[in-house]
Amino acid sequence: MFGVLGRSYALPMPADPSFRPRAVLFDRDGTLVRDVPYNADPELVEPMPGARRALDRLRVAGLRIGVVSNQSGVARGLISLDALDRVHRRVEELLGPIDVWQVCVHDPDDGCHCRKPAPGMVFGAAGALGVRPAECVLIGDIGSDVAAARAAGARAVLVPTPVTLPSEIAAAPRVEPDLAAAVDWILVGAPQSNGAFAEVRCAGPR
Ligand SMILES: [Mg+2]
Ligand SMILES: [Zn+2]
Repeated sequence: MFGVLGRSYALPMPADPSFRPRAVLFDRDGTLVRDVPYNADPELVEPMPGARRALDRLRVAGLRIGVVSNQSGVARGLISLDALDRVHRRVEELLGPIDVWQVCVHDPDDGCHCRKPAPGMVFGAAGALGVRPAECVLIGDIGSDVAAARAAGARAVLVPTPVTLPSEIAAAPRVEPDLAAAVDWILVGAPQSNGAFAEVRCAGPR
């Protein structure tokens, strides 16, 4: 069922000609940038392979871009809000402008509604961008990213990393080997989607 590293996974995906994504929401750590646990140092920000090009392709296609990120290091006292801000400014220096940042700064025990797998940040990002959650695709590297998208009614694409569990890969509605392939799927659709997204290919900037 699952392919080897470097090729797309052919999980069944129902064709949905009416689906036209307007925004792509990214998990931060392990998806847009390398995961440096509780990173408070802008100098340690390192984009994941192909991240800049993936984002630029979405921008050119007229899609909005958001980040939805759990940062419990703030609640734990390991990262200040100022440091978090500096890290995010560095992310934008390297990857270009992000239209909306949604960050959960709570502790897992706080019971907030924003920490993934809760859907709060997906709702928040969609609202800030003026789109419906159903018009969003969330790209992430673990099961809680997929769960947050699903709980909000958004699509999800899993781009696994070494921390991704086999069960999370098995449960994901869509799995792609890297950001380039994930964006291919979002913009033009995979062959097995029966060309459902073909019209998006020609979408210009809004
Ligand atoms: Mg992650
Ligand atoms: Zn929260």
